[in-house]
Formats: sequence, structure tokens, C-alpha cells
Amino acid sequence: TLYNMVQDLKGNIRVYCRIRPSFVAEAINVIDFIGEDGSLVLLDPSNPHKKGRKMFNFNRVFGPTATQDEVYKDTQPLIRSVMDGYNVCIFAYGQTGSGKTHTMSGPSGGLTRDMGINYLALNDLFRISNGRKDIISYEIQVQMVEIYNEQVRDLLAEDSSTVKYPFLDIHKLEIRSCTSDNGLSLPDATVRSVKSTNDVLNLMKLGEVNRVVSSTGMNDRSSRSHCVLTVHVHGKDESGGKFHSRLHLVDLAGSERVDKSEVTGDRLKEAQYINRSLSCLGDVITALAQKNSHIPYRNSKLTLLLQDSLGGHAKTLMLAHVSPEEDSFSETITTLKFAQRVS
Ligand code: ADP
Ligand code: MG
Repeated sequence: TLYNMVQDLKGNIRVYCRIRPSFVAEAINVIDFIGEDGSLVLLDPSNPHKKGRKMFNFNRVFGPTATQDEVYKDTQPLIRSVMDGYNVCIFAYGQTGSGKTHTMSGPSGGLTRDMGINYLALNDLFRISNGRKDIISYEIQVQMVEIYNEQVRDLLAEDSSTVKYPFLDIHKLEIRSCTSDNGLSLPDATVRSVKSTNDVLNLMKLGEVNRVVSSTGMNDRSSRSHCVLTVHVHGKDESGGKFHSRLHLVDLAGSERVDKSEVTGDRLKEAQYINRSLSCLGDVITALAQKNSHIPYRNSKLTLLLQDSLGGHAKTLMLAHVSPEEDSFSETITTLKFAQRVS
């Protein structure tokens, strides 16, 4: 179709939408139709006639019965391209409770049947590395940070003296320009080599623990920070040619709007930081899709951190998550509009 051709021209930016299953048996479902072609129709429950229906188009839509493997299958080509030297960013966007962490990590607590993209991706990278070991030698490393109130914190620091309260202030990291010596935008972040999926599981556990530690005294901090898992792939071929590519797997803070009349103080500040950084991310991706000459990377820590992997030859995938229930309607329409704007 013409739509797909336009998408191909835009090339490096893709947007998928995932609708999680409903947990309320008698709730009205606001997703009226899901097309094979990446379209969906949203139904306004207060206006159930023709006027209350709005169509959105994405590269792909996953309905409530889609499995983790199905989602992964459509993500795999992007992930595999990291082994050929491409930088890739994958973002999970959506309101709290819409399924972002389910897609990226899967259910918490070790190895389960429903592992998310993070684990499946690393598994895949190890498999490719083994399959090519006669031609290219790979080293795979991971790094995991969180961005909370525009501060970057290391989630893989293991020094026992620092894994206690107030952990928050100890692992603050500075973002440097990509020209720093080792080509890392976070030169001080803990980077760990991984050789097996078991190594990966252990690190993810550590990251989860550090996130919990850092949220002491605060209610569900994880939905109010961005979590960035970065996979560094160092490749070296027979003739000594080297490359370093990066795969960023980002579980974004919840996109819900908070009612300014209801929250104050720290909670309001948090909400403002989140709104600003998510809209900066939208601005950067839109500017890239439109091939603007100025890309506003510097407006948020998140886009600054990911600058080397957004634009140029890098590939971007936005996974927009929505809840199907009637009471999420206004957040769902906001998410779909945001996702359509960047696609
Ligand atoms: P978010 O990270 O966006 O706040 P979660 O991933 O924590 O949302 O999802 C909220 C709840 O819904 C969790 O209990 C999660 O296990 C469940 N859930 C989300 N998506 C799915 C899905 N596709 N299939 C089954 N359960 C899901
Ligand atoms: Mg979450």
C-alpha cells in the first residue's frame, strides 16, 4: 500500500502498538477493531456512533492475545542488525499499567515462560555470536541505568558500601559527549561482560534490586523513571576491522497526565520532569522522521544519552502500549495520538 511505501521511505523509524488483555470481565473495550495492516479503531464509549470512532495507523498492531514470542518475532530483524554494526533504540511507551514492563522484561522473578524482549534479544545475540564465531569475534556487555527527575543513576553498581540508603545520591552519572575516549556517553557507568543468558538474568536481578533499594520510602518509583538497558556489541572481524554498536532497550516512565489540582510538591515535580522528557523524545523522533536539520537532542537527559543511537543510520522502534478498558479511554487516545505523531 501507499501507506507502507511512505513508511519505508521514512525507513528507520517504526511504531508498533500493543493492547494488553483486559482484566475486568465486564469492562467496555474501547478498541473496536484491529486490522492486519497495522490499523486500529478506537471507540469513544460516550459517543458509540460513527462519530465516536477514530482510526489510527501503525506499522503493526498486537492485540490482547498476542504472545511475547509474536512481539519478539517482529522486533528480531532490528535486534539482529546490531550484530552488523547498527545502533538500535527500542522504547516502551504508555500509561502505567498498560504493559510496558511486561513487553520489555516479562513477569518479574527469574526465568519464566513469558520472558520479554530484553531477555529474548540477548539470547538471540549470543546465538548469532556463536554462529559467526569463525568470522567475527564478538564481545557483549550490558549497562543499566535509570533516569529519574533528570538524573541518571547506575543500576548495576555492586559495591556493597553503596547498595544502601541513600543509594540515590551515590550513583549519579554524568553524560559526556560521544567523543569521550571510550566512545561511551556514560563513561562512569558500570559495564559488565555477559557470556550467557544466565549472566543476563543475574544482572537483571541486580538491576531490579537496585531499583527497589532506590525507591525506599517512595511509592512505585519504577513507573516514574525511565529504565535504559544498553547492550554494547564489540565486533572484530578476521582482517582486524572493528565496530562497536549499541542496542538500547528502554522502559519509559508512565505517560499518564497527573491532575495538577491533586498533586503538589515532589509528586508534581516528578510529573513535570516526565511530561517534559517524553515530549522531548516525541520531538526528537518527529524531527528525525521529517528529516529536519535541527534535532533537539539536548532538551532532555534521555535524548542526550541516546543521541548516538537516534538518527543517522540508527534504527528506532516505538512500542506504544494501551489498556483496553473504558476508564483508560482518555489516556489511550493520548498515547495513540503521540505514537501516530512519531510514525
Ligand atoms: P507498565 O509497566 O506499563 O506499568 P505492566 O507491564 O506492569 O505495566 O503491566 C501491568 C499488569 O498487566 C501486570 O500485572 C502485567 O503482568 C499485566 N500484563 C501486561 N501486559 C500483559 C499481556 N500482554 N499479557 C498478560 N498480562 C499482561
Ligand atoms: Mg512498568
